[in-house]
Amino acid sequence: MSETKASKKYEFKAEVKKLLDILVHSLYTSREIFLRELISNASDALDKLRFESTRGSEYADKDLPLEIKIDFDEKKKTLTITDTGIGMSRDEVISNIGTIAKSGTEEFVKLIGEAKGDASNIIGKFGVGFYSVFMVAKDVVIRTKSFRVEEPAVEWKSDGLGDYEITEIEEKINRGTSVEIHLKDDAEEFVQKWKLEGAIKKHSNFITFPIYLGKDKVNTISAVWREPKSSVKKEQYDEFYKFLSYDNESPMDVIHKSVDAPIQFNALLFIPKKSSEFFWYDRENYGLDLYVRRVLIQHKNKDLLPEYMSFIKGVVDSEDLPLNISRETLQENVVFSKIASSVTSNVLSFLQEKANNDAAAYIEFWKEHGRVFKLGYTDFMNHEKYSELIRFNTSACKDEKELASLAEYVSRMKEGQKEIYYIVGANRDALAIDPHLEIFRNKGIEVLYLYDPVDELVIQSLRKYKDYELKSVDSADMKKLNEYKNLEEKKSDFDPMSKDDEKQFSSLLLKMKKILGERVEDVIESKRLVDSPSCLVSKDDSMSAQMKKIMKMTNQNVGVDKKIFEVNQNHKLVRNLVKVFKKNPEDEFIAAVTEQLFDSALLQEGSLEDPHKLILRLTQTLEKSSEWYTSLNNL
Ligand code: ADP
Ligand code: MG
Repeated sequence: MSETKASKKYEFKAEVKKLLDILVHSLYTSREIFLRELISNASDALDKLRFESTRGSEYADKDLPLEIKIDFDEKKKTLTITDTGIGMSRDEVISNIGTIAKSGTEEFVKLIGEAKGDASNIIGKFGVGFYSVFMVAKDVVIRTKSFRVEEPAVEWKSDGLGDYEITEIEEKINRGTSVEIHLKDDAEEFVQKWKLEGAIKKHSNFITFPIYLGKDKVNTISAVWREPKSSVKKEQYDEFYKFLSYDNESPMDVIHKSVDAPIQFNALLFIPKKSSEFFWYDRENYGLDLYVRRVLIQHKNKDLLPEYMSFIKGVVDSEDLPLNISRETLQENVVFSKIASSVTSNVLSFLQEKANNDAAAYIEFWKEHGRVFKLGYTDFMNHEKYSELIRFNTSACKDEKELASLAEYVSRMKEGQKEIYYIVGANRDALAIDPHLEIFRNKGIEVLYLYDPVDELVIQSLRKYKDYELKSVDSADMKKLNEYKNLEEKKSDFDPMSKDDEKQFSSLLLKMKKILGERVEDVIESKRLVDSPSCLVSKDDSMSAQMKKIMKMTNQNVGVDKKIFEVNQNHKLVRNLVKVFKKNPEDEFIAAVTEQLFDSALLQEGSLEDPHKLILRLTQTLEKSSEWYTSLNNL
């Protein structure tokens, strides 16, 4: 160890200490992944060097081969991982190794803290980085020399407890980094060749630089995505996917494309079996790896696929991009944009085929990834394809689990039906008693059930499917609906109103309108209600109540959108109200009932802002009915 220049001690940052504490004290399973992490860092360092060299930068030790070496000493119980990559300067060591920059790592600390002892699954999926070495090391010495010729080499030393020490190295060492691990007593298995070889083959087989274990090369280094589809076995795909995603399950689907014209590229994409449990925490952690002629240009590129496909993992490699392309200008590159849109359409076509060939498998996909995929309503370029791929629960489904496509809806439409109807609600049970659906049920017209607030955004942005307009049930045209026959002619419990009662009823509606005043557009007789006394409906084309709520939440000015209050003539309550009205049009009971019905309608569509009046009235009504009840029963 060089002691000519004074060493300097530094303390680890608090979050690093926390991570180290967890890694060292509570993880005893999957410890071998420390090797995956160190090899992946070595490989990243080599990728970065290759990237610099393709851009023509000057760099030290030009003749060194790009490779990773793993040496072990059974007597001394040491293990050393050496790469000829980009290396680090003193400042880079301090900022890269002394702090945690990745947001995912913080999330890891949180999740692993929650998982208590059983963290093997979490640790397998996360890239936990350099510090995982302290699961097996009692001391670690890093020696590194930056690719920049003038930078001196440095040594970093730590026992992973509280601090680390940095010393400048005076003698000449080669470009790159070596990590020397002094194994803990209980981790001595990692000086056994078979153990190391097994771990490398399992986790690092697809690293694109040769890995030497002692003198033997142990990884396969093949660019699977460049091989003809017919020659790749399922096991190879699975293995590559696991390597790429840190998933321990095989993928749900593999999409392997080789395109030659007009632009050459290879894409190997995977749809995971499970939607990532970290997805909503870790929104930045997605994207495809972009290669140009097998040289990695960017990890997790976010422009090759739109965000609504961010659950997809994989690799894209093109011959037609320049090797020295800069990541910053990728998006402006025409060839790159064409590749990106072609990759996107390939995914959409794949999904369409999947839906056509195996509807059940497609539903599995939808249940797992639909929540993210749905957000594709913003992809206007692909609206048509997208609209074939979305799924809804509908009134024609036998339960809440069954789903239908818009195409299926259309195939079940009534003759002459020009609209696709939808309703927004919390769940199937809530919609079952929604008065707006009564007429649709009677006529046997299917209605899409929208449970997720995003669903309505989807509908609003599509507006149409083929030639069919998407229409909310509360703005449906009653005249059109009433042209369809009822499924069964239900005999009304009521005789038709007499001429005089009809007149009284009309006056009652006027009275109700006066009571509700500015709050409604109009009060009219309902042609749609069967079992409910009243409901609120929209003027044609106005926003649904749910939509307004979303807009309000995002602070958008929605204005007042007055609705029409419909009253069902053939309802016991309304018939009784006519009787009261006939005797005394000014009876207070009329106002109380009108207010209550109006508030109930608001409550049902989720737009009652202050329930206290409704509750007060309800209590008063119950009080009265209790008197009626007690006297009826002679109590
Ligand atoms: P990550 O690899 O996700 O960035 P790590 O904890 O594994 O997180 O590594 C932290 C940083 O340390 C890397 O981003 C890199 O800058 C630096 N580093 C680690 N190992 C090497 C290496 N072998 N050569 C050069 N730099 C390295
Ligand atoms: Mg790393």
